[in-house]
Amino acid sequence: MAYFKSLPSYMCNSYQVRTDDDGPYGNDETRCFLLTTFSYLTKTTMACVVCRMDMLVYDKYPLINGTFFLSSESYDGCAIELSKQQQQQYLNAVCIGCMNAKTRKIVCKFCRKEWKGNSLVIGSMYNYDIFGAMSCCSQRFNCRKCGNPTRDFPPKDGRFFCFSDCTKMATCGRCGLEAQHSIKPLAAVFDDVIVNNNNNNDNNKNNNNNNNLENNSAVGCKSESKNESKREDD
Ligand SMILES: [Zn+2]
Ligand SMILES: [Zn+2]
Ligand SMILES: [Zn+2]
Repeated sequence: MAYFKSLPSYMCNSYQVRTDDDGPYGNDETRCFLLTTFSYLTKTTMACVVCRMDMLVYDKYPLINGTFFLSSESYDGCAIELSKQQQQQYLNAVCIGCMNAKTRKIVCKFCRKEWKGNSLVIGSMYNYDIFGAMSCCSQRFNCRKCGNPTRDFPPKDGRFFCFSDCTKMATCGRCGLEAQHSIKPLAAVFDDVIVNNNNNNDNNKNNNNNNNLENNSAVGCKSESKNESKREDD
């Protein structure tokens, strides 16, 4: 658990880092779903959609050095396609460095507010889009197709606007597209700022340390040399 030991002490608690199963007898749905998916695909790693760093996937909580999330958007070529009911869904992940703006920070193109994932639980999975759900300004809700505004943010009537409202389906008044308009490719919404190279090196070092973990074994057994080389390209 070398990486988690390097976290500031205020983050080392079960609210910030997921350390155990929710379900009785260790039969946790999220963990089972992820382990089944990764072993079916014979994958052991998942790339961060922001910095593209590969993260090992573990068979115990915390399942990843970051967080998984489900979205209708495939944010990266490495996102895993899932089909859930009629709607297409993708499994994406963000690394701990990008969640805490240690590796890269991403800033809204429109209002310049920084996206921060430091309130998210590390090592688990969110069943909603963590970028769309944490929208910062009305431009984030502009139509995916024609750019027409689809809603006011914050609402003009002053009512409470919760995170699930942010990812609701809405119909564009101009082109008629019905979509989750707050969910768009990262490059359409954010400017990506590399914090500094030292942090990047630290992050890679920590990732290597995690290859030697004794208590948390990686899922599956096939090495992912393909993903390793992809990371070099980026
Ligand atoms: Zn990252
Ligand atoms: Zn904004
Ligand atoms: Zn439109």
